[in-house]
Amino acid sequence: MKYYIKTFGCQMNERDSEKIESILQENGYEISNVKDADIVIVNSCAVREKSERKIFSEIGRIKNLNKKAKFISMGCVAQIYPEELSKISDVVLGTTSLYEFKQLFNDGIKGTFISNTIQNPDYVFGHLKNIRAYVDITYGCNNFCTYCVVPYTRLREVSRSYKSILEEIKEIVEFGGKEVILLGQNVNSYNYEGLNFIGLLEMINKIEKLKRIRFITSHPKDFGEDLAIAISEFEKACEHLHLPLQSGSDRILRLMRRRYNFKEFAKKIEYFRKYNPKGSVTSDIIVGFPQETKDDFKKTIFALKEIQFDEIYSFKYSNRPFAKASLMPNQVSEEEKNERLLMVQEIQSKISKQINNRYFGNIEEVLLDSKAKLANQMQGRTRTNKIVNIDNVDFTLKEGDIVFAKIKKINKHSLNGEICTN
Ligand code: SAH
Ligand code: SF4
Repeated sequence: MKYYIKTFGCQMNERDSEKIESILQENGYEISNVKDADIVIVNSCAVREKSERKIFSEIGRIKNLNKKAKFISMGCVAQIYPEELSKISDVVLGTTSLYEFKQLFNDGIKGTFISNTIQNPDYVFGHLKNIRAYVDITYGCNNFCTYCVVPYTRLREVSRSYKSILEEIKEIVEFGGKEVILLGQNVNSYNYEGLNFIGLLEMINKIEKLKRIRFITSHPKDFGEDLAIAISEFEKACEHLHLPLQSGSDRILRLMRRRYNFKEFAKKIEYFRKYNPKGSVTSDIIVGFPQETKDDFKKTIFALKEIQFDEIYSFKYSNRPFAKASLMPNQVSEEEKNERLLMVQEIQSKISKQINNRYFGNIEEVLLDSKAKLANQMQGRTRTNKIVNIDNVDFTLKEGDIVFAKIKKINKHSLNGEICTN
């Protein structure tokens, strides 16, 4: 028996797909192309209107290619539009209900599974044996930023028990995993029976054979000096912080209900850099939020220049169902949003280039995770999460090895280096 799976959206969706794949594999299924599959799965993203629309067209396209397979829709769109999807799917699996999938093999692959809370958050799902593995530490979100659909697609925040997290990571290192990326919409608000995020990091940092720990996403309101210090002190915690700013205008941040102003945000970055001077910082930016004037937008540009992020993910604001901002007056025109997005990307690309140029000649610790494009190359990442292609690797090196590389070339989205022996 064979399956095909297509995943849209964030790392959390990627992890959810992996959970379903691990159940399928435990039941004897192998991965295949669309045409040969007995089960076809589409894992959907609802974060922007465009991603949501894509799901419906993608389902149509896939069903044309394979008319006999059982069809499963899952993910964020499945959670909020189960009725629409049940008309075109054999199974609809909400983000809350992945645990139900285990049962489906006994009960026949059919039905709609949606719940109003996450089912069995402490269950330890399988992994696909990669060097780098995602581990959920919290599910859901309580922040209700006014533009965001996530609190509706992933429901209220729940922290997983540290026991289940540690058990999962121990399984990961047993099969050769070296790095974990702790996942949550708001990881720094982790709290399980009084154990906070720093306490959890401390426990994970002690796991033998694990080499690196990363986490996404931090909400600025929960990131403080104590965590900046913890990152510098726990040797496995990598010196990279993803801290979404969204806008440089305090007025827009208030309308977004982000609960910080630019000055407070800048202070958090200062803490991080104070204790992790070589660390990297990335962010998310939304342009064209309702009522964003040219003046507000200028403040975002100012913020980019001021903070100097290594990289940003920038998005045009998109109206989302349930999200309060979609009812706000004075929406920004599509044309204006396009212009602003382009401007943000141009400015950031110059900043990213300048920052990456500083890596030239550095000796960096690189965890190898895959073969690169060329035969004698391997790819890996620095602790600061920069992709490095290692040239002229010898055959004894393998995925999961940590090497030291001298950076010899700076590309647009990666670096090239060579192993240094001294
Ligand atoms: N929990 C994380 C990630 C949320 S979604 C956080 O709080 O940062 C990832 C990113 O998508 C957000 O940071 C935001 O920049 C973007 N995003 C979310 N909703 C959006 C919308 N309606 N329009 C445009 N971008 C959006
Ligand atoms: Fe969405 Fe805000 Fe929650 Fe992030 S913190 S998932 S942006 S509501």
